[in-house]
Amino acid sequence: MVTASVNNGSTARADAAPRRPVTAAAAKSRERVLFEALQPDPQDSIPASSLAAALEAAGLRLDDPRLADTRRALRSVATEHEIPDRLDFAEFGRVIKPSILIIEQALQRRLAIPEFGQFAAELQRIFDSAAADRSGKVADYIPQLGRVNPEQFGVAFCTIDGQRVSLGDAAVPFCLQSTSKPITYCIALEERGEDVVHRHVGCEPSGQSFNELTLNKQGRPHNPLINAGAIMAGSLIRPGADMADRFDHVLEMWQRLAGGARPGFSNPTYLSERRTADRNFALGYFMREKGAFPEGTDLVETLEFYFQCCSLELTAESLSVVAATLANGGVCPVTGDRVFQADTVQKCLSLMSSCGMYDFSGEWAFRIGLPAKSGVSGAVMVVVPNVLGFCTWSPRLDQIGNSVRGIAFCRELVRTFSFHHYDSVGGGHGRKDPRQKRDQGRRSLTVDLYWAASEGDLDGIRRLVVSGVDVDEPDYDGRTALHLAASEGQSHVVAYLLTQGVTATPVDRWGNTPADDARRGAHTAVVELLDGANGPAKAARRSV
Ligand code: GLN
Repeated sequence: MVTASVNNGSTARADAAPRRPVTAAAAKSRERVLFEALQPDPQDSIPASSLAAALEAAGLRLDDPRLADTRRALRSVATEHEIPDRLDFAEFGRVIKPSILIIEQALQRRLAIPEFGQFAAELQRIFDSAAADRSGKVADYIPQLGRVNPEQFGVAFCTIDGQRVSLGDAAVPFCLQSTSKPITYCIALEERGEDVVHRHVGCEPSGQSFNELTLNKQGRPHNPLINAGAIMAGSLIRPGADMADRFDHVLEMWQRLAGGARPGFSNPTYLSERRTADRNFALGYFMREKGAFPEGTDLVETLEFYFQCCSLELTAESLSVVAATLANGGVCPVTGDRVFQADTVQKCLSLMSSCGMYDFSGEWAFRIGLPAKSGVSGAVMVVVPNVLGFCTWSPRLDQIGNSVRGIAFCRELVRTFSFHHYDSVGGGHGRKDPRQKRDQGRRSLTVDLYWAASEGDLDGIRRLVVSGVDVDEPDYDGRTALHLAASEGQSHVVAYLLTQGVTATPVDRWGNTPADDARRGAHTAVVELLDGANGPAKAARRSV
């Protein structure tokens, strides 16, 4: 029996007022289920490597920031243990505690793509078939693009739960070019709001090529994903601020979107773009003549800012995390950082769906049916909303300017999986659906909160807060996350919950506050935190 072997100490003292939360027993049994999932041998221990292997099989990387504390705990167990490569149940508990929520989801196949190994194997097959296509031509309007090795091909995926797969040259940096445009637009929207932004740029496909010398009937660029519109969106980001600060700001946003990977910058690309920019200057003067820019815009600075954004360098791996952040409604899956509001992302995805793939946008919407943006460097950034983001990069372009292998990859992807937006009509036409079913094993956020609080999984709690969990919600016994963290001595969790403005003196059905629980457990650091928040807690008894 799972629970029989777990002594939580609650029954021995059942008649005394001090009590261990029922949830502590439940927590132990949840740990036991995970332990047994890794097939313990008769000595009741598991190879330490089996935990790492199980996480990797679920698509998580061991360098994932969410697993940092578990990595640290694993190292400390390894040094003090006689047989460092095995974990008994107690050690296993200590190792998984700080990252318990994500580890449980991974081991119980409750992440966005539950059968990740099968999914990754299909991606490899699709990658190999697209790699065979060597047609197309590398962009050569500037030497920096013309010199890129055309044979390169990288693909990377990241799900909204941070499951990752990288294929081929996924770690080779390339410059963003037009794949920077959706993000420039999002930053402008966040800062200036829809009304201001769309006073200066439309939201209609232009029906013309990306750098065509044309504006809409109001003398505005058709949309933010063609050159004129991206130049305009850039002009709305921190206008009047120092150029260096504006660029730093954009860099920082990209870094947050990519889960912490700092983008590079290709100065040669920037210099070449600027030197060969007659068309972009012409677009700029045309818009200025029409009075399209906000008052006081410096045209040359605005164009230079646009060239700088095009010259940012990322890898397919980090661009896949950016795409996953969009798929996840603006919250970066690996850091839990809310970078954009969901409303901003919704607008951006709408435009990517209709205008993201140059003159192929209509056909792309028809055949692939996903929001995407391509760039002349050979990148395609694609979003499967609420599931994943991915990036393909291969420099040879077709006549329209899209990556040949990128398009080939995406065509085969939607032939294999029911990712086309309208596959939802008629049940996917027999294609595979790798995503977690809506009702498949998701626990309530509050139940996860109680568990994470008692186990000390601060990162998990932060994510739950981003997902909108009510940190004050009491359970049936009137116990809150603060009670559970306090009674287990999780001072870092108590400190965090207090910064979130939780009620510091909730009273459970036995009349106890979190400070009472902490005193009983002799958790002095917690008592000090709670007393600091309230003055020594003396809560009114609640009648139950
Ligand atoms: N930077 C180039 C330009 O502005 C190309 C942008 C793109 O990827 N289409 O013309």
